[in-house]
Amino acid sequence: MDLLGRFNFVELVYLFSFLCSLVNAITDYPIGAIFDRNSEDIKYAFNKEIEFLNTRNDAIHIVPEIQELDATDSFAVSNAICSLIKKGVYGIIGVSNASALPTIQSYSNTFKVPFISLSMTQNTSNSGHFQLYMRPVYINGLLDVIIEYSWTRILYIYDTDEGLIRLQQLFQAVNMREQTLDIDVKRVSDAYKCYEMLKDLHQKNDKVGIRVFLDIPTERAEEVILSLKNDTSVLNHKFHFLLGELRIDEMNLAPFRNGGINITGFQLLNYTKLKDDVTKTEWMKWQWPDLRDAVKIPLGPALVIDAVQLFQKALKKYNKQRSVGFSYNNYGRSFSPEPRMKCTDSSNYISPHNGSEIMKILKSKDVQIDGLSGKISFDERGFRDKFQIQLFDITMTMGLADVGYWTPDDGLRTQEPYKRQLHVESTNRTRIVTTIMEAPYLMYKDAAAERRAKTMPKPVCGRELFTGFCMDLADAVSRELNIKFNVCLVKDGKYGEELENGTWNGLLGEVLRQEVDLAIAPLTINSQRERVVDFTKPFMSLGISIMIKKTAVKKASVFSFMDPLSYEIWMCILFAYIGVSVVLFLVSRFSPTEWHVEEGTIISNDFTISNSLWYSLGAFMQQGCDISPRSISGRIVGSVWWFFTLIIISSYTANLAAFLTVERMLTPIESAEDLAKQTKIQYGVRESGSTKDFFKNSKFPVYERMWAYMQSASPSVFCKTNDDALARVRKGNYAYFIESNTNDYINMREPCDTMKVGPNLDSKGYGIATPIGSDLRDTLTLAVLKLRESGDLEEMQKEWWDRRSECPIKETGQDGGQAELTLENVAGIFYILVAGLILSIVIACVEFFYKSKLDSKRSKKSFGAMLRCKARLSFRGSLDRDTPAPSTPMRKSMSTYTYTGPTQVSAADGFPDNLHTQV
Ligand code: ASP
Repeated sequence: MDLLGRFNFVELVYLFSFLCSLVNAITDYPIGAIFDRNSEDIKYAFNKEIEFLNTRNDAIHIVPEIQELDATDSFAVSNAICSLIKKGVYGIIGVSNASALPTIQSYSNTFKVPFISLSMTQNTSNSGHFQLYMRPVYINGLLDVIIEYSWTRILYIYDTDEGLIRLQQLFQAVNMREQTLDIDVKRVSDAYKCYEMLKDLHQKNDKVGIRVFLDIPTERAEEVILSLKNDTSVLNHKFHFLLGELRIDEMNLAPFRNGGINITGFQLLNYTKLKDDVTKTEWMKWQWPDLRDAVKIPLGPALVIDAVQLFQKALKKYNKQRSVGFSYNNYGRSFSPEPRMKCTDSSNYISPHNGSEIMKILKSKDVQIDGLSGKISFDERGFRDKFQIQLFDITMTMGLADVGYWTPDDGLRTQEPYKRQLHVESTNRTRIVTTIMEAPYLMYKDAAAERRAKTMPKPVCGRELFTGFCMDLADAVSRELNIKFNVCLVKDGKYGEELENGTWNGLLGEVLRQEVDLAIAPLTINSQRERVVDFTKPFMSLGISIMIKKTAVKKASVFSFMDPLSYEIWMCILFAYIGVSVVLFLVSRFSPTEWHVEEGTIISNDFTISNSLWYSLGAFMQQGCDISPRSISGRIVGSVWWFFTLIIISSYTANLAAFLTVERMLTPIESAEDLAKQTKIQYGVRESGSTKDFFKNSKFPVYERMWAYMQSASPSVFCKTNDDALARVRKGNYAYFIESNTNDYINMREPCDTMKVGPNLDSKGYGIATPIGSDLRDTLTLAVLKLRESGDLEEMQKEWWDRRSECPIKETGQDGGQAELTLENVAGIFYILVAGLILSIVIACVEFFYKSKLDSKRSKKSFGAMLRCKARLSFRGSLDRDTPAPSTPMRKSMSTYTYTGPTQVSAADGFPDNLHTQV
């Protein structure tokens, strides 16, 4: 009692509290929270984090007191604060909109309750006492970016009062740094209005670039930029957006990574650091079980987690101090010597919280933590002082690139463009392979897969749905690289070409925009594409070729022996034959050596016109003849004619076998030049692809002419897919430029009615495409080379082309030799033989009758008697060996001259009796 008597009442209470603290090792610390009704994720993070910290700490136990309200309603906010203060919270974590912030500041200052704000930091006159701001002030960072890009005029777009405050901050910063910057300001009510306004602006003058400081929530900014990007009347590359918020990472960047809109923005969370920190990753997995990769966490929840961690650390310290110097009631609120106050008119009197101690601890460097948003420490005004924000850029060829960082002390530190790192996420993830439906590269596995794919939303993905050369290649490559992959069909069904506004579509567009990791497809490597994506070494070689409908087969006809030489050559030979014979006749007439004396008085010349013709024919047929020129001139004629026939006959013989045995196509077109020359057969290319680019960019006059035709042709000669083209080719009168491998494949498919004609127009290769700077590029090239060297690619090609051929190969015999000649092939020459024989018999008969008629007249005998007489003579002449044979008709037909008289011409009648005729 004595001992007790020494203390007054207050000291006794302190003592009692101290003893209680020794008995109750865990003390409850209520923490208040004011959240907007729409921020479920933040509330979840707040509760989870407290739960997590409570299980790991046995000294203090945090009790969450949450108030959900409309954060813009300052009356509701003041009521919420009062209710939390009444509950004796040690601090409040929450949102503080521009409209409610003064209320919050005034309550937290009056009742000395620390308020940790998750909202935008505002530099108001009231600040600095009991408020801490989790979001850093980075207006100077934004200004540094504007200066870095040398912008002198910007369009500032905002949609809330916070935007107005930031604009004010920007003006202040510009003035302080004595910069000249023209700022056009626009307030917008929603994303669509914003898009329309920007489009209008662009259309008024599409020559100038528009630099936009877009200070609207990131989700809305994404909507605006996406609308512009999808609007084909807008030249995307004219825009450069600087995002006002600190969460460019929360945008779905995929659609913007094309060669168009430039976007720059800051990010507060450092994912690279998060990834490296094992404990943090583990912790995040626990926190966000649905985020397996544990690298993505929105800024709002991240900041609330950091705030709770910070507060817990401060409370732990406070708890330690408290055990030696403070007293408190059973729900934790400490006594304060200051007078009690009413929070609202209707509320009871409340003692101001003794929060100065906690505030001091919170601002001290002892509780500085390394949170999800980086180092967390505050200056005297309650603003974060040691922080770093990452700057990201989405530009033409780089995709999303880490440009540098900004800190309040160092300012903006940017990397050289070539050092900028693509934002590489986990390399262990499943890679997305984009490809295109094109047989035999990619086909549906079966009808069920096709039906399933048709019901799926775009993009159609699933390895199990497809088969084909590209699937085999993708499997082989993934085995080499040890990566997982999924296959998706390109959304627009195109290979890709550069559009007028500088963007790309098709496979190329998807790779370029980094919507996918790689493209494994029959994708042609060319310089234009190589500039925007990376290609591996080619996995297949090919060239542009012509596909036409198969025309009627020309069967070997009975007159096939005429085919080795063209009609013109035959005609030329005929004229040459007549010409040579006439020349021979003439030179023989003029040359004295051709004249010789016969039977003493008759001078004769062997080369009558008929003998000349006979001589030339004998030479042409390689048979010779028993007369031969004696004069030099005649021999010259003979020699050149022999030489001529030698060459002609050799050429004829060389071609003959092939022409007799091979069935040939009657192709009206043999080359691109043939196509260019005519107008009957239309020709075209695929709507979007490298073949089109080939013609578009060619400087070769024939191809230039063809390109001009293709552009002007009506109906359009461009085909959306190869299937469309094939249908058109099959209808006839349409030639399609298609890559040779695909051409070969189609020609080998039923109904086998198409064919490739002419040589390839160029030679090139297919490659696997990756975005520039992809981590896969080099390893992919190595894998392709390995597959090529090992013969696997060759084998795959055989598998998908040769072994799946559905059309017979006719041209040659089974053993590869020439097919044998049939009677059909050579019947023509039999016909000629028979015709010749018949003709000779007919002429002989005509001669016989004619001669008999003449002789009957001359000898005044009847025609019948003369016939009988002649027939008897003929019969006897041919059967009786004793009958003297008629002299050689050739000798008898020589031109003969007597020295004195006129020319005597003997008729070649074969009869020895006096039948000379005077001409
Ligand atoms: N393989 C081509 C491409 O990559 C398609 C074509 O133009 O025929 O574009």
